Amino acid sequence: MTQSTVVMKFGGTSVADAERIKRAARRIVAARESGKRVVAVLSARGKTTDELIAMAQEVSEVPDPREMDMLLSTGERISCALCAMAINDLGHRAISLTGSQAGIVTDTSHTKARILDVRADRIREALAEDMIVLVAGFQGVSTSRDVTTLGRGGSDTTAVAVAAAIDAEVCEIYTDVAGVFSADPRIVPDARKLPQVSFEEMLEMAASGAKVLQLRSVEYARTHGVRIHCRSSFDSEPGTFVLREEDTMEHPLITAVTHSTEEARITLVGVPDRPGAAASIFAALAEANCNVDTIIQNEPLTEGRAAEVSFTIGTDDLRAALTALEPVCGELGITRIDTDREIGKVSIVGAGMRSHPGVAAKVFQTLAAEDVNIEMISTSPIKISCVIRADAVPRSVRALHAAFQLGEGGIEPEQGPR
Ligand code: ASP
Ligand code: MG
Repeated sequence: MTQSTVVMKFGGTSVADAERIKRAARRIVAARESGKRVVAVLSARGKTTDELIAMAQEVSEVPDPREMDMLLSTGERISCALCAMAINDLGHRAISLTGSQAGIVTDTSHTKARILDVRADRIREALAEDMIVLVAGFQGVSTSRDVTTLGRGGSDTTAVAVAAAIDAEVCEIYTDVAGVFSADPRIVPDARKLPQVSFEEMLEMAASGAKVLQLRSVEYARTHGVRIHCRSSFDSEPGTFVLREEDTMEHPLITAVTHSTEEARITLVGVPDRPGAAASIFAALAEANCNVDTIIQNEPLTEGRAAEVSFTIGTDDLRAALTALEPVCGELGITRIDTDREIGKVSIVGAGMRSHPGVAAKVFQTLAAEDVNIEMISTSPIKISCVIRADAVPRSVRALHAAFQLGEGGIEPEQGPR
């Protein structure tokens, strides 16, 4: 009988120091001793990635992206080599692999590369030789043979991609929180740990600020049908399973409230009101690899007058976005570019809202009762997001969480047909 394979990913806090590396090693060995084949994907220790970024900025204002990837990829390698040593001392055979050695092939967009293929032969061979395999997260090798990294939080995506490639039964994400919560427990003390969420809900949650999983890892898991189990590395309680919607058991109307204060708004004033204007603006941003979220364009009331276009963008991408917009603004005769960094966003997510009217009204009433002004709104079939002032985010999250009774003991069942 072939053994089942599990991928275990450990985040930065779970490998932060020697004691924690040994603890992760023991957990990996325990899984192996229970009869499973194990591939572990590790993140850089603690704040290593932040420190490496700071080191780069000490020597260069805008560090070369290729060299940045050479630098950043070292953090994950350190974790893997150390953990392999600890596992070997526990009497098991372990081998650490860089992303490139593990066969993670990416495109060429340095610092936010996408995985194109996982050529997992070397992982499979090592597993067949009864070894525990450690794969450095967050990195790969590009089609032009350079080291790449996958964007912040990218080790999650490494783990899911490896799990898909070797057909693992589950991809376990070990982290410093107990799972995925109905809201950030630091803001909402009675936030509930969710036993399960669907890929679709998790995608919306990751896109609107939930930090447990990198957005791309969820996309990848959905496309390849990889079951994710997000759980604490400090106890053995079950965490949150991310699954296909058909496989989830609970169907609440609303699943979670998420928030983000890491976005900025760019407003372009004097955009010519003619076909192609928005196309050139957003093509330039796409070319620069900037992920744009909520977009609002107001149609000028008088014919021939200029329009205003606003959109939100991650603060990480702000500099690149402004650089990319400069030439377009010149070409289109845009008169002003305003940047607002003080915005925040609150969102509610739930597969049940698809067929349930009145959710948006309740969101707006709840924010109105808190005297919170809504500046932009965007929706999907299972999400409603509102852009508000950043300092209003905590109380808005608490109010929405309470209004939809998402806390411990208060799941609002979905009514009516789905
Ligand atoms: N070390 C990288 C980061 O801090 C990748 C990861 O941890 O997933 O973003
Ligand atoms: Mg992470």
